[in-house]
Amino acid sequence: MTEPTVYELSAAGRCGLALPEIAVPKTNLPEALLRRDNGLPELAQRDVVRHFLKLSQHNFGVDSGFYPLGSCTMKYNPKVCEDAARLDGFAASHPLQPPETVQGNLALMFELQESLKEIGGFAGVSLQPAAGAQGELTALLMMRAWHADRGETQRRQVLIPDSAHGTNPASATMAGLDALEIPSDTRGNIDLEALRAACDETVVALMLTNPNTLGLFEEGIEAAIDLVHGCGGLVYGDGANMNALTGIARPGDFGIDLMHYNLHKTFGTPHGGGGPGAGPLGASAALADYLPGPIIARCGEGAADDGTCRPVMPAKSIGRMGTYFGNFGMLVRAYAYIRLHGTEGLRQNAIHAVLNANYLRVQLADRYPVPYDRRNMHEFVCEGRPDGSEVRAIDVSKRLMDYGFHPPTNYFPLIVAEALMIEPTETESRETLDAFADAMRRIADEAIGDPDLLRAAPHTTPVGRLDEVRAAKQLILCDPAAPDTED
Ligand SMILES: *Cc1c(COP(=O)(O)O)cnc(C)c1O
Repeated sequence: MTEPTVYELSAAGRCGLALPEIAVPKTNLPEALLRRDNGLPELAQRDVVRHFLKLSQHNFGVDSGFYPLGSCTMKYNPKVCEDAARLDGFAASHPLQPPETVQGNLALMFELQESLKEIGGFAGVSLQPAAGAQGELTALLMMRAWHADRGETQRRQVLIPDSAHGTNPASATMAGLDALEIPSDTRGNIDLEALRAACDETVVALMLTNPNTLGLFEEGIEAAIDLVHGCGGLVYGDGANMNALTGIARPGDFGIDLMHYNLHKTFGTPHGGGGPGAGPLGASAALADYLPGPIIARCGEGAADDGTCRPVMPAKSIGRMGTYFGNFGMLVRAYAYIRLHGTEGLRQNAIHAVLNANYLRVQLADRYPVPYDRRNMHEFVCEGRPDGSEVRAIDVSKRLMDYGFHPPTNYFPLIVAEALMIEPTETESRETLDAFADAMRRIADEAIGDPDLLRAAPHTTPVGRLDEVRAAKQLILCDPAAPDTED
């Protein structure tokens, strides 16, 4: 079912455009600048449009269907946020413009910082990090600097639960620190006894995701934080799962010292495919001075505050984490999203995200075993091996594509065998959830009656099952049908 390439569609002499008569004298380009061997395809404009439109329709996105990719919060992004980001005053401004000419942009960033402080319960926010993973690295560098200021350079251990996202240990390693894994207990919480045993004067921080990546609220969160603070360590919150908490609980109030937000998950800016994101970092009062800058401050205070803003570096800032002001377009989208929803709207989002995820878990638990079967938050993890069958999670996922759904996250977290992590988000209707549950149940029947149907899936997509290992090891980045050129 592969589409013909533009090279296969090409016909000699066909042309896609008509240029107007030239009104200036003709001269020939130097022969050295001309390439005659590049074999460009020759097509009519209609063929080009149809070709690329067809290709675009092979993409699957939140705007084309249900996308329950756990831990990613693939929710519908209101188009008004896109409209806001495209306004000339935002899109056409330049990061090197003098502050007095971009006061609107600075005010927007200032207000976004204020909103994120309020939502997470933090004393300071920096909008610098470009993604969640970079927020993690930033926080670890800040924590290292904080400990160094106390003369505690012997602290090298970063404690990370075994349910954590892979970026957590990767960030610890990038920060030059050592990651130490802490097991989970039988209820899916961090094991407090194991944590207690690991808490000593070598600990930089605990990195904790709450709700954790099993979609479960950490029932011992306060005890865990007390243990780590008790040995002089700090606590990092991985805020990727804030969609379950907005307007309901504030990580800063739990005692979290630093936390990133994924604007591209929780706050309505689109993501996927490695596109631009934003991972602002919230900090407690003790750590706010170490935040990367520039952050945006009001010029005056109290009666002298005329509302003008300026970029400043925090007193003990670890410096910059990127150029200029971060991914500004993402900040505009998040600002628009937060203002659009308001406090009550954000609260309702969290409530409905949690409700939808519990609704699906209850519908599926009798066919797909749920290892930690208690009330979940905005997502849940089940085994993608329907009871009584031998298929694997990947087979169920590939078959879901035939039913028109994007698969859930596979094989994460690592502590659940054949894991499927399902996050429906608040923006899906009950009808969509029912249709998905129905497809999952049908697939469970097929897994028992005709497992090879699943093993050969997907059957309806433009490309079939990929050899993912080979795809990663033997990257082919250009169109193999394109004629070879010398350079
Ligand atoms: C997505 C995610 C991250 C990383 O965020 P990026 O913005 O993709 O770098 C970290 N932790 C968890 C739990 C996540 O889901």
